[in-house]
Amino acid sequence: MTTHSRLPQERHLATEIPGPRSRELLARKQAAVPGGIGTTLPVFVTRAGGGIVQDADGNSLIDFGSGIAVTSVGNAAPRVVERVRRQVEEFTHTCFMVTPYESYVQVCEKLNELTPGDHEKRSFLVNSGAEAVENAVKIARHATGRQAVVVFDHGYHGRTLLTMTLTAKNLPYKHRFGPFAPEVYRMPMAYPYRWPTGPERCAEEAAAQTIDAIEKQIGAENVAAVVIEPIQGEGGFIEPARGFLPRILEFCRANGIVFIADEVQTGFARTGKMFACEDEGIVPDLVCTAKGIAGGLPLAAVTGRAELMDAVHVGGLGGTYGGNPLACEAALGVLETIEAERLVERAEHIGSVMLPRLRALAERHDVIGDVRGRGAMIAIELVEPGTKKPNPAVTAEVVRRCHAQGLVVLTAGTYGNVLRFLPPLVIPDHLLEEGLGILEKAFSEI
Ligand SMILES: *Cc1c(COP(=O)(O)O)cnc(C)c1O
Repeated sequence: MTTHSRLPQERHLATEIPGPRSRELLARKQAAVPGGIGTTLPVFVTRAGGGIVQDADGNSLIDFGSGIAVTSVGNAAPRVVERVRRQVEEFTHTCFMVTPYESYVQVCEKLNELTPGDHEKRSFLVNSGAEAVENAVKIARHATGRQAVVVFDHGYHGRTLLTMTLTAKNLPYKHRFGPFAPEVYRMPMAYPYRWPTGPERCAEEAAAQTIDAIEKQIGAENVAAVVIEPIQGEGGFIEPARGFLPRILEFCRANGIVFIADEVQTGFARTGKMFACEDEGIVPDLVCTAKGIAGGLPLAAVTGRAELMDAVHVGGLGGTYGGNPLACEAALGVLETIEAERLVERAEHIGSVMLPRLRALAERHDVIGDVRGRGAMIAIELVEPGTKKPNPAVTAEVVRRCHAQGLVVLTAGTYGNVLRFLPPLVIPDHLLEEGLGILEKAFSEI
């Protein structure tokens, strides 16, 4: 396993975090960029690679975020850099809908091959996760002639009008941005840690409630699609109780409902499988991918059953930039890297290092109510000791201490009380261990 990074793989604090240069840049940001664009950690980045993010003050931070599960192959990964460099000198854009090019087709062939199921598939490319989800819904509606879309508590699907409607959480995503898109229905999520009757009954009861609500409130024959993340991302890395996804899929199959898996955050080796759906043998009708697909170049995709994808008339799908040639080359470089560096196995290894240490940490600190996740998509949920009451205050304090020590960590969760870990899959073990050490220290200090 090599990161091939030009950056020394070492944490190094040259100044306080953020340093003077970053603070200067932050002031400029505040004057030039609207406050609605938040900042998790205001260090301004100059280079990044492997498991390190370097800032304008010469600090080197350990990366447990991957730019929100995007740079899974590392930042500026050599195969990505080389392909993009070659492409940028040849041509930067023609618009695939005007005069096409091979790399777009290659990416689609790869997606058709790698996504779950061996049925005949088609793929097309867009620019963001939200755009992928929005297009998947368009296709499902067109192919079924139905309108209703079913989504789940704690779900996150993007920030456009339709996808923010599909998203569960009001603040910050929806507040005062209504009215929302019609024909969206929300169902209970099989959230084992918070299921009222306990985790054992969670899958069965959540599925029964969902199916009952669909039949009674919408009518199964009116539902175009069910949209679900196989592990919820922004909602707090919630792994649906085992059995829930298969039951929902079975109901969809029996009722002609298109099952759309939003694998935007879980895809491309992140969870220790190429796609998280594989864990329970789920074969979705349509799969949305983005984030980890192209090492940070803007790319996303919809992949699905040929008969659904081909139902749409000529010109009904597309966009000016979708499948930009630089982004396609980057995606091919990402897929080569995942294979060559065995990053699926590597994600599993990261989970096997993190989970035992986090479980041991939870033993020592009763503020940690739950430890969960798969592969390199791991989270801890913080509560008030002895209860399951969410504890966003301690979560924020732990994050603050980690950031001050040069560890990039992110939060998540409907209640803002989940610490999530998404290290690049190429992070060297010594940085993974050091990052966990910083986290452990933050807990013992509060
Ligand atoms: C990030 C995310 C999206 C939205 O992707 P963008 O590229 O930010 O539009 C959609 N679904 C899931 C599960 C995500 O994590």
